[in-house]
Amino acid sequence: MPEIATPDFAADEARFREEGRKLFAGECTFILGAAALVQVPDSDLPEIAFAGRSNVGKSSLVNGLTGRKNVARTSVTPGRTQQLNFFSIGDRLLLADLPGYGYARAPKSEVDAWTRLVKTYLMGRPQLRRVCMLVDSRHGLKTNDREVMKDLDEAAVNYQIVMTKSDKVKPGALERTVAAVKAEAATHAAAFPEIAVTSSHTGTGLAELRASLSQLALPVANR
Ligand code: GDP
Repeated sequence: MPEIATPDFAADEARFREEGRKLFAGECTFILGAAALVQVPDSDLPEIAFAGRSNVGKSSLVNGLTGRKNVARTSVTPGRTQQLNFFSIGDRLLLADLPGYGYARAPKSEVDAWTRLVKTYLMGRPQLRRVCMLVDSRHGLKTNDREVMKDLDEAAVNYQIVMTKSDKVKPGALERTVAAVKAEAATHAAAFPEIAVTSSHTGTGLAELRASLSQLALPVANR
């Protein structure tokens, strides 16, 4: 009988981590901030978008992934960055940092503008490979997260839920929140079953996220 090779998951994981480390340690360039859809860069690179409520820790996560302090500006006033900010990672991957949603004091006109801009972007970006939906570990899923998840399901855009600020929650509470989020994600067609748990302050989960995202980048040989 022919021998069946068993996959070496540990070796794959180590290789993906190394690929992720290398990719995000390399060149990272701010491309542009788009306040309107016509300004979104014309690019053939695979793209990953970061979405989440304002103050969820999005800029900190983008900075944490790239190991730089100021790639994405961390917000002083939440909900005030109404731009989609694009970064090129090693000329193999684009990151799109979407404006945060759900800022309680934002005027309705601003919320409507966000909805129009982000929805149109999410629905009509063929190179968009994945959305990282950031969720604060202290709060779990909120109404506006669920609305975005529904939109992503309808547009068939794959998304992965990434818990942020995990250092702010005690392990037991974190486990319960992650389990609840995971159970809810399982009811959404386009959501990844696995939840990433991260902290930009301690670095928890960043190597794993880099590894996973690097698998979506263009291969080195293509550039
Ligand atoms: P954004 O509005 O989603 O871009 O959020 P920021 O990245 O600007 O972060 C909002 C606030 O949360 C800032 O005060 C950050 O220092 C804080 N923050 C972000 N990530 C973490 C984290 O992993 N742990 C902790 N403890 N605080 C964080």
